[in-house]
Amino acid sequence: MNLTSIPALQDNYIWTLNDDAGRCLIVDPGEALPVLSLLEKNQWQPEAILLTHHHHDHVGGVAELCDRFPGLTVYGPEETRGKGTNFIVADGDDITVLGNKFTVFSTPGHTLGHVSYFSFPYLFCGDTMFSGGCGRLFEGTPKQMFESFQVINALPADTLVCCAHEYTLSNLTFAHTIDPDNAEITQYYHKIRELRAKNQITLPTKLELERKINVFLRTQDTELQKLIGFETSPQHEWQVFATLREKKDTF
Ligand code: ZN
Ligand code: FE
Repeated sequence: MNLTSIPALQDNYIWTLNDDAGRCLIVDPGEALPVLSLLEKNQWQPEAILLTHHHHDHVGGVAELCDRFPGLTVYGPEETRGKGTNFIVADGDDITVLGNKFTVFSTPGHTLGHVSYFSFPYLFCGDTMFSGGCGRLFEGTPKQMFESFQVINALPADTLVCCAHEYTLSNLTFAHTIDPDNAEITQYYHKIRELRAKNQITLPTKLELERKINVFLRTQDTELQKLIGFETSPQHEWQVFATLREKKDTF
């Protein structure tokens, strides 16, 4: 399978996977037009849409795509019922798209019903994990998002994390402020600044890289804990996550 990113709306990416036969799937189409152009240009035949959560910037293009391609299967969690979903998925489900197995993981935090889809090496995690950061907690708790991060962190190191927004520079700026002496973060921050200055995409990212540069994956790191004000490790690791998220909210 071949991965493509489509820039959409303000700072969204709509992801597609296609096979050699020209069949494709579309992830979180927040709008239809850029997807239709890509399909037409490549003469791709869409087979399915995967939805991670109910927000408009992820589902806004579903109706138009289904009008154009009436046979589409639209997979999504319960919270996307009524947004065009015709196949409800839940934690632990396996679905077959383009002949490949995708496992559905419940990843609440940004929204309560948020799911992620994994078919090695591809992870479509919507607004759960971003490169260098995590989604805003609109509906869930820090503890829920922390647990969602543990689910993602259990995947193989060479997983390609396909996030739904270009937030990398803002996240790395935050990480660099929190942990200024961290060589890996500093180096990556400068690399991302260069990429974004040229308006280039910073995704997908690799899980093994995120383990180094994403502070939300380093909640067990006692040095990091000290940097954000914990003199001793808190009783629960999610409390470190909560403090990081609070700091990012007001950054
Ligand atoms: Zn969202
Ligand atoms: Fe979003």
